[in-house]
Amino acid sequence: MSAKRLFPNFSFQDAPYNLQYYKPGHPETEISYMGCRTRVIGNNYDPTREISFGRGNLSFTSINLPRIAIKMKSVDLFFKELDRMLQLVSDQLMDSEKLGWEDTVGEVIKHGTLSIGFIGLAETLVALTGKHHGESEASQELGLKIIGHMREFCDKESKRLGLNFSLLATPAEGLSGRFVRMDKKKFGIIPGVTDRDYYTNSFHVPVYYKISAFKKLSLEAPYHALTNAGHISYIELDGDPTQNLDAFEKIVQHMAKVGIGYGSINHPVDRDPVCGFVGVIGDCCPRCGRSEGHAISEAKIEELRKLYPGMPVFRGVR
Ligand SMILES: [Zn+2]
Repeated sequence: MSAKRLFPNFSFQDAPYNLQYYKPGHPETEISYMGCRTRVIGNNYDPTREISFGRGNLSFTSINLPRIAIKMKSVDLFFKELDRMLQLVSDQLMDSEKLGWEDTVGEVIKHGTLSIGFIGLAETLVALTGKHHGESEASQELGLKIIGHMREFCDKESKRLGLNFSLLATPAEGLSGRFVRMDKKKFGIIPGVTDRDYYTNSFHVPVYYKISAFKKLSLEAPYHALTNAGHISYIELDGDPTQNLDAFEKIVQHMAKVGIGYGSINHPVDRDPVCGFVGVIGDCCPRCGRSEGHAISEAKIEELRKLYPGMPVFRGVR
């Protein structure tokens, strides 16, 4: 099914950081990723309730990592400024919790999570070292150090405040465009950092960078273990995966093997509005044989109706 449409995505219950919560026979302890890939499971406030059901992420704030890197320039100063920023976000999340405070929902709020998100690890690494984590092993090491540091902060704040702070691989595509526009204005065009329309999402290896699907997944998987508020990795396929189900399956198996928590495989999907075919359409539609802008004959329509009963066939030229 996923080879034909873009859904379903794949979530991996066996990834160690998901498996640790699972109790056989208790579906509420199974991992579940919401549409925007957020994940709520750990519960520092009440460890007997480490479940998915009836809980949610209350609020999240994302940190613009590339901006800190552009401003600080050196790795040491970057970590100092990152710490200041993390504390700022934590305080702000606590304030937002107070604003929503009602006596009756107090206990519910304590079971929910407050998340710190981030955007543009790839551009951050380029700003600090000249290379992103797809290009250099040293950058991958630094990337894991940065995201690991952020996760440690979340765990510490959770203990200190008795609440659930978690780290989110931010899904906000709109935000990554807005952040880079602001930084372009402020710092100008920096090659590999502010020279595109979007900062790369969360910990992703940039989509424009040529890399094998397997290597991309292996590089991104360790970040899934660190981002306990949610994460996703995408693989973009060029061709028609229904023509190569074996490769499709190998990618899903590789996701499981390297410890991806939530993964998605994208590929071009065409739909012929006349005959309803879904898949990759080259010069002519593999079902009805028409090319774009051409109609199909009455005889062909009859034939298709017999072959695919219940399938709407339109007469118009589209
Ligand atoms: Zn067709």
